[in-house]
Amino acid sequence: MNLILLGPPGAGKGTQAQLLQDRRGLVQLSTGDMLRAAVKAGTPVGRAADAVMKRGELVSDEIVVGIISERIDQPDCARGFILDGFPRTLAQAEALDRMLAEKKMKLDAVIEMKVDDAALVERITGRFTCGTCGAGYHDRFKPTKQPGICDNCGGREFVRRADDKAETVKSRLAAYHGQTAPLLPYYQARGRLRQVDGMADMAEVTRQIEAVLDTV
Ligand code: AMP
Repeated sequence: MNLILLGPPGAGKGTQAQLLQDRRGLVQLSTGDMLRAAVKAGTPVGRAADAVMKRGELVSDEIVVGIISERIDQPDCARGFILDGFPRTLAQAEALDRMLAEKKMKLDAVIEMKVDDAALVERITGRFTCGTCGAGYHDRFKPTKQPGICDNCGGREFVRRADDKAETVKSRLAAYHGQTAPLLPYYQARGRLRQVDGMADMAEVTRQIEAVLDTV
């Protein structure tokens, strides 16, 4: 099964994609994670993307389409994948359609996670991850059980994304509304779009996504 999780930054796409990966054996394909890895590794793609990401703007379609096309060819994706953060523009959605047709793959569902903008800023600016194991936390909604110590691995180093600052979040939300939201009517017209309430608690969102997948 191949899915897209669509929604603004902070909607919970990454969290739900990881849960789906664990529960259904689907592979999470996060262009944001791939780009951050490229930035860290200092590759040509990373060097091109770094400043754009820091401004909260979108990296070029050409770069992200190239990354996804290569990644989908890896054998693990044959089990099915969840696109998290891709496509983000109409040009990317059209490129994805062409790519899937060429590779004889299909898209089973596009799940929109609906969340109010006001909630997103608080969700995003409070999040941090363990620098050792990558476990995700939030200052208010999911603090570590003991201050400064990762519940999962005992690590004491935590990281916050450079683009999770309030000013950058505003640009990221503007990019979502301006460039990504037009994908909703695009997939609606193709009969692929389903919606879940991204404002509900995490377990309820998972339940709603599972209910959608059971009908696919
Ligand atoms: P994310 O982790 O999905 O919030 O993505 C972080 C940043 O990576 C975004 O603000 C963009 O700068 C860049 N990015 C991730 N995915 C895409 C994409 N599909 N198209 C363009 N830029 C992207």
